[in-house]
Amino acid sequence: MKKTFDFIRKNQHVLVFILIVIAACFISTEMFARAGGGGGSRSGGGGGDGLGELIFMLFMLLPFPFNYIAIAALLIGVFVFSKLKKQGSILNKVPTNQVPTKRDNKGLASFIQMHPDFNEEAFKQKVGMAFTEIQNAWAAKDISKARRFISDGVYQRFNTQFKMMNILSQRNELEKLTIKSITIDKIVSDGTFDVIHVGILASTKDKFISDKYPNLNETFFEEFVEYWSFIRKTSASGKDMYSTQNCPNCGGDLSGSAMGDVCKCPYCGTFTNSGEFDWVLAEITQADDYVTTSHLHDMSNTLANKIEEISDSDKEFAVQLIEDKASNGYLQLQTARVFKDAKIMKRFVSNDFYNKFEVTMKSDDHFVYNRIFLNDVTLIGALQKDGKNTLAIAIKSSFQKVRIVNGKAQLLDVAVTSKNEVMMMSKDIITEENKGSLYAHQCPSCGGTISDTTDMNCPYCGNLLNSTKNEWIITDLMSQQDYLNYFKGNSNLFIANVNPKKLDALYKVRDFAFNNVLVMIAIDGVFDVEEISYANKLAKKWGYAPSKLEGMIDMARNNQLVIRMPESKKDCEKIYKLMHKAAAIDGHISPEEQQLLDSIKQQYL
Ligand SMILES: [Zn+2]
Ligand SMILES: [Zn+2]
Repeated sequence: MKKTFDFIRKNQHVLVFILIVIAACFISTEMFARAGGGGGSRSGGGGGDGLGELIFMLFMLLPFPFNYIAIAALLIGVFVFSKLKKQGSILNKVPTNQVPTKRDNKGLASFIQMHPDFNEEAFKQKVGMAFTEIQNAWAAKDISKARRFISDGVYQRFNTQFKMMNILSQRNELEKLTIKSITIDKIVSDGTFDVIHVGILASTKDKFISDKYPNLNETFFEEFVEYWSFIRKTSASGKDMYSTQNCPNCGGDLSGSAMGDVCKCPYCGTFTNSGEFDWVLAEITQADDYVTTSHLHDMSNTLANKIEEISDSDKEFAVQLIEDKASNGYLQLQTARVFKDAKIMKRFVSNDFYNKFEVTMKSDDHFVYNRIFLNDVTLIGALQKDGKNTLAIAIKSSFQKVRIVNGKAQLLDVAVTSKNEVMMMSKDIITEENKGSLYAHQCPSCGGTISDTTDMNCPYCGNLLNSTKNEWIITDLMSQQDYLNYFKGNSNLFIANVNPKKLDALYKVRDFAFNNVLVMIAIDGVFDVEEISYANKLAKKWGYAPSKLEGMIDMARNNQLVIRMPESKKDCEKIYKLMHKAAAIDGHISPEEQQLLDSIKQQYL
């Protein structure tokens, strides 16, 4: 030990020089990401500029060997802190315009152990066929040809968008659709089902056209990553529903059958999308949503394991199925709002909620969704109250509303904007057997097919349709903030829950701000030099990988990014200021930019 001290004492000038050089390296590389701070990262403080000076002062002021210990501790601290900072932003993990590489091999391995006959290449071929068939169906505004292998929730997503597009005389042409890669991201088990999440990199020229309201027309060439989630019963028979249009049960030709709301073979009455035969498309998620919410889905699967009381009485309980019902019901509510027609949703909701919803629906001005997407639907909590199991499901949607005035379409939302809500669904603890899904237009009590009706009793068995005896019924829809309050007041009733504060936990203030600044500079359809250099400057300042920025700008240009705002009002104010600065960067604020700023001020500040 003494020898070491002597060595250090003799060579201390050389050593301090080396330390200062190391410090300088931190300043020029690692520290660059946060030099000057900015946005929400300011509290992290410090700044690298004074580091060399600080080391010199520590060296001079502290007695030997404490000066060296202090300097070493300081450097380790700075190193760890800068590493944490760099990994900090979730936006760096969004795969944009590149083959998604993140892959969870653990789930895949245990799935293959259970299903040794699983052929990854054959599965990917199915995904490719599904992708092409669905994009064609989308462009033709007719999903019936793909109906046999999509869930009721996915069907309703398409159906709702088609209804809106029909009101606006819109169609969406896709040209040069190319799949560039298909990657299995992860496989999870969910009740008696398996779920495979697949990343798809593709490109297309995308044209929204309305002859009646040409101001809504948009064209972009986009390369994009989407995650498609497929579900199948663990005990599935392994039939192929993709390379054939025939019923997997009786072999009947389904190509001309125009299956719609009900996914039922007209010959044998089998529901082809039950997961008993082949993989069923259950969800489509955009890259940015997939990355930011995947931790929530992991938690929600853990949560499902805790809800034993529910799965005991409901053998078919699976998180993905509940989320599918929630998506379906949520979209029925939105359709009812647009058509101002309560019968569309009445049978899916409790009487109390119906009365509450009807009041808001009637006070709404007339509007149509120019865009409506469900970004993410996640089970976040379960509680028991009044003899019922109640599930809380977080719903992130994004939308752009328009109003038709004197034959013209006026934008009510300047940009596509996202919203977080929580939907509550209830079912009796002591349940009766479910004979069919209400969300697939079946009577849960007898399985009979029911049409859109205001009659609240099944025409076959007379059972009350919105009864919680044998189906999950929507009992409330609230804002994220209202849910936090509800959770505080009822936390003793919860059997399991994901901390509601974690809903947006991965988005930091700078992520919201950076995302919104990009939407802001894309809003007038012009990306000029000042705007791009401002975006570059912000990216550097906030620690975003330069390679990501190009993809993010492309996403903004192609209207793939939506306005996102956090719950905290103080954070909203910071974000508004940064967006204002971005709008004014090229010397003037365009009318579109001003409109977006005004609408944010009005809605969030
Ligand atoms: Zn059949
Ligand atoms: Zn019935």
